[in-house]
Amino acid sequence: MRIGQGSDIHRLEDGRPLIIGGVTVPSAKGAVGHSDADALTHAVTDAILGAIADGDIGSHFSDRDERWKGADSFVFLREAAGLMRGMGFEIANVDSTISLESPKLRPFIDEMRANLASVLGTSVENVSIKAKTGEGVDAVGEGRAIRVEAVVLLRPV
Ligand code: MG
Repeated sequence: MRIGQGSDIHRLEDGRPLIIGGVTVPSAKGAVGHSDADALTHAVTDAILGAIADGDIGSHFSDRDERWKGADSFVFLREAAGLMRGMGFEIANVDSTISLESPKLRPFIDEMRANLASVLGTSVENVSIKAKTGEGVDAVGEGRAIRVEAVVLLRPV
């Protein structure tokens, strides 16, 4: 078995799309980034790369590379999952926490889980996504950022 951890943070700005786990969440503010700024997908990608000790999302997909400008972050996740399989591993489970002041994410969580499970080649039961606010504290609580933490456990196929 191998364990990996990932985290990500993106600034929020008015008028940007808010894409989380491949779901476009209706929101006045969205995340700013070189790609589509999907913080959940970035954190899970980094967790997988961490579990196989193969660098990080920045070393595989530079934010200075024009190819990844506005990119669908599932491209990154799919690549990481391919590297994982190449090493003879599959997902045992994923757990993650999204910290976002608003909007409430509960109505969108199951679609996010299904999206991640599909790309990772695992079942929805193996993908946990939790959501919480920042309780008015720090950049998340002030509505200026979205933060995600993720852990994955891999098992040999
Ligand atoms: Mg990111």
